[in-house]
Amino acid sequence: MGVTTLLDEPRRSVAVRESVNPYENALHQLEIVADHLKLDPGLHEVLKHPQRELTVNFPVKMDDGTTRVFKGYRVQHNVSRGPSKGGIRYSPKTDLDEVRALAMWMTWKCAIVNIPFGGAKGGVLCDPRSMSMGEIERLTRRYTTEISHVIGPDTDIPAPDAGTTSDMMAWVMDTYSMHRGHTVPAVVTGKPVEVGGSEGRVDATGRGVVIIAAQAADVLGFSLKGARVAVQGFGNVGSVAARIFAERGAKVVAVSDAYGGLYNPDGLDIPALLACARKDGTLTTHSGGKPMSNSDLLEADVDILVPAATENQITSQNAHLVRAKLVVEGANGPCTPAADRIFFDRGVALMPDVLANAGGVIVSYFEWVQDLQSFFWQEAEVNTRMEQMLLRAYHDVVNVAVRDEIDMRTAAYVIGVNRVAKAILKRGMYP
Ligand code: NAD
Repeated sequence: MGVTTLLDEPRRSVAVRESVNPYENALHQLEIVADHLKLDPGLHEVLKHPQRELTVNFPVKMDDGTTRVFKGYRVQHNVSRGPSKGGIRYSPKTDLDEVRALAMWMTWKCAIVNIPFGGAKGGVLCDPRSMSMGEIERLTRRYTTEISHVIGPDTDIPAPDAGTTSDMMAWVMDTYSMHRGHTVPAVVTGKPVEVGGSEGRVDATGRGVVIIAAQAADVLGFSLKGARVAVQGFGNVGSVAARIFAERGAKVVAVSDAYGGLYNPDGLDIPALLACARKDGTLTTHSGGKPMSNSDLLEADVDILVPAATENQITSQNAHLVRAKLVVEGANGPCTPAADRIFFDRGVALMPDVLANAGGVIVSYFEWVQDLQSFFWQEAEVNTRMEQMLLRAYHDVVNVAVRDEIDMRTAAYVIGVNRVAKAILKRGMYP
């Protein structure tokens, strides 16, 4: 396969639109692939809408004795291929449309890597950085209670996402189990290993990002060894990806978090930055590099750019300023459809989120399987199986991209949407 096959022009019969609303962008991406597949309009209509949306408003006792009411969501986009799966996000900016977009992306992601799940997502409008652990625990337990009638090991299985951690997933599991009267580890993934979590889950998303980056770099004619990398976001996905890039000989020259970034052309000391972020809650207090803004990081002179923070970071406003030759989406939805188009026009290779960050949900699937069987695997086995599944999906997507002469995101969607559509058709319409 030649370099150009990753870079070929996308189909142009659907005019490109861009929105600050992630759900609008998700619908637009679906429209592009529906047009390419000549999808039945009725089926397209079904896929546009989440199957179930739950909004909850619930009280939490704060440390100062006051009561605050929080708003939360759980959206299940499609369950044709199995129970729905998707993380829970705690963020001061989340809303129903963001959660809808994230749920839809989960449907495609699970289908692309061919695991037997549909897509879902949860969100709570809150700022976990300004809350105590006690407040977050009470919020997590009450939110779990509010959504407990729509989640379960056979129905919908949450996991961590931005703003949530494995400890919070232990509270989800404990709360759900208290309601059921017995321990139900398989209700949630991304738990600590002490309560049925999987070895390798914490690193899985970042590890998958590096696996996909290595494959794409190979096609583009360079190796990770010595490659200059910038990573936006230093949480579960970004910090692990940065660490594994560095372990594989890449020079991670720029990293950032919500407070700002750091740049060092000789390569940043990632273990030291991890220690700093753990201690201070941000990497910006570290002295090992020059301060750099998040927007400058996206435009840094690097080979590989990994946006691993949040949506809409690369848009029609800045895609033409990105200097990386390879962009690997660690976050969900960091590039808008207009940015995708600019990258194609400029010959920048883009590895889409639904493939590049799927290592996490693959190992979440393994965790669910292990919990249901009460039989646990060694980390090496988890990592090997994850890599096999992710590489199979990568090659499937590349083959479709070559066959149909389309870009990697559209090719990934062709596989995902096709698998979901076939499941819907095989099941038939009830009643
Ligand atoms: P996290 O909360 O652990 O970390 C997020 C990081 O991004 C933090 O360092 C935060 O400071 C930083 N950040 C937030 N807003 C920023 C901004 N505007 N600019 C720069 N940095 C910013 O979250 P995470 O779990 O690492 O998730 C990050 C992204 O990856 C999200 O889009 C999430 O949906 C996606 N994702 C996560 C997983 C997973 O397993 N956790 C799996 C697949 C995809």
